[in-house]
Amino acid sequence: MKRLMFLPMLLVILVLAACGDGEAPIQEPSQEIEVTMMNTEEEEIGSATLAETDNGLTIALEAEGLEPGMHGIHIHNAGMCEGPDFESAGDHYNPTDAAHGFDHEDGPHAGDLENIEVADDGTVSTELNTESVSILEENLDNTLLTDEGTALIIHSGEDDYQTQPSGDAGTPVACGVISEPK
Ligand code: ZN
Repeated sequence: MKRLMFLPMLLVILVLAACGDGEAPIQEPSQEIEVTMMNTEEEEIGSATLAETDNGLTIALEAEGLEPGMHGIHIHNAGMCEGPDFESAGDHYNPTDAAHGFDHEDGPHAGDLENIEVADDGTVSTELNTESVSILEENLDNTLLTDEGTALIIHSGEDDYQTQPSGDAGTPVACGVISEPK
């Protein structure tokens, strides 16, 4: 008699477990990419965590050893960070053939981001948000998972959101590979 009771219960448990598996992908956290930020001597100075949310992509940046003040930060169109100039990272990511800058009538580049402020102790801890790019799928028009790869670069000065081609933001001072070239 006990056995007969046990079997239906086991079935119920199995069915519940199967349903749980089917729903699991929806409840998983959004896709994330962890980016290691390096200075011009290619020493690690922090990280940027890219995560897809309902409101686009967030970039949680934590870094140290930077000059205090405002700095331009952009996503570039090649996934290579070779110091000391980081020219290997190419230009701003620009799949829509736009002009640079939030204040330019033909802007901005998809890879343009809002300036960050580094504290007096050289650290920065901030979260940026952009709806212009995605890390979800490789076949999207605005994906950061391109054949050339992409990189995140912090510049020495402030982006004026208007001057071509990169907002007069000065030289790159930190770089991190978002996705590597294929
Ligand atoms: Zn730009």
